[in-house]
This record gives sequence, structure tokens and C-alpha cells, in this order.
Amino acid sequence: MSIEILRDARVHTLLLKIDQELARQHREAGCGYCGAKLHCSNFPRKPRGCPESVRELYAKRLSFDCSSCDRRATPSSVRFMDRRLYVATVLALVCPRGPASRSWLCQKLLVSAATVKRWRRWWHETFVTTPLWLIKRADFTPVVDEATLPGSAIERFNASDPADRIVQFLRFLLPASAGFLPM
Ligand SMILES: [Zn+2]
Repeated sequence: MSIEILRDARVHTLLLKIDQELARQHREAGCGYCGAKLHCSNFPRKPRGCPESVRELYAKRLSFDCSSCDRRATPSSVRFMDRRLYVATVLALVCPRGPASRSWLCQKLLVSAATVKRWRRWWHETFVTTPLWLIKRADFTPVVDEATLPGSAIERFNASDPADRIVQFLRFLLPASAGFLPM
């Protein structure tokens, strides 16, 4: 998967559509605490890592407030992983090996080498212990090389179009996208 995928507007449009659908389902289900109706209460984001031309597609994290107990309800997202500053697609494009400072994320997106190292560590040490991966890795045959995640998993999604492949991978990650991802 090449970093050029970030320039493909279809990826960003598809991801927004998926987030809108997730939000719609979340809203229909009502408040998880008291069951009351949810009100729209999106919050602004200043995303890093996406091209200027699609920033608008990342300007809001879709979210709700409960009309009765006031609790916030934020659906999972394929565009944003938890509170990361960078958009989810960038985190999925981190290359697993070589000097971090020479990686494309550092050189082209100006992600710091320390951040690249932290993301690699997360993929190789934390992600592989998540319930999502422990359950789902068995679906991949032959076995995915965990030392070269995330690329080694992305390439197993069999859409012929790389744009679809990255979207499928981010959708696959959804259950892991809240709460325990690297900052
Ligand atoms: Zn409520």
C-alpha cells in the first residue's frame, strides 16, 4: 500500500459515508444508559495527515448528546481512531521497518520519527494482543506476519482496488478503534 492512496479522494468519501452510517445506527439505538433520544452534537476536529482538498470531510467527529441524561455518545469511526491527531488512514500506512526518520510518513507528511516509532510499537506489541486480532487472525491463511503489520494484513483484503482495500481494513479495525490506540 503506497502513501499515494491518501491522495485518492474516493477513500476519504467512502470513509465519511461509513461513519455517517455508523452514526445513523447509533442514533437509532438511542442512549446506551437510559434509552432516551440522542441529539446531534458533533465536535470539530483539526485532522492531520489528509490532503488539504479533503479536509472538509474530516472537519467533524460525529457525536451525540442524550436528550435526558446528557451523556455523550460517540460512535466508532473509520476516519478517526480515538483521539489521535492523525487520520486513521495514516496510522494504517506506517511502514514496519527501516529507520523511522527515513519513512515516508516522516519525509512526506512530517510525522515525527518518535510518533512513527510509537505507532510501530503499537502495531507490533499492542494490536497483536487485542481481542479483535486474537480472534480474527485465524481468518487469515496463510498466517499474517505480525512483524510487518499493518501492511501484511492490509494486503490480505482482496479488493482489486487499493482504495477499497484500505477502506475494508479500516472497517475491520473498528472494534479496536476506541480507547486503546496509541496517541
Ligand atoms: Zn441517556
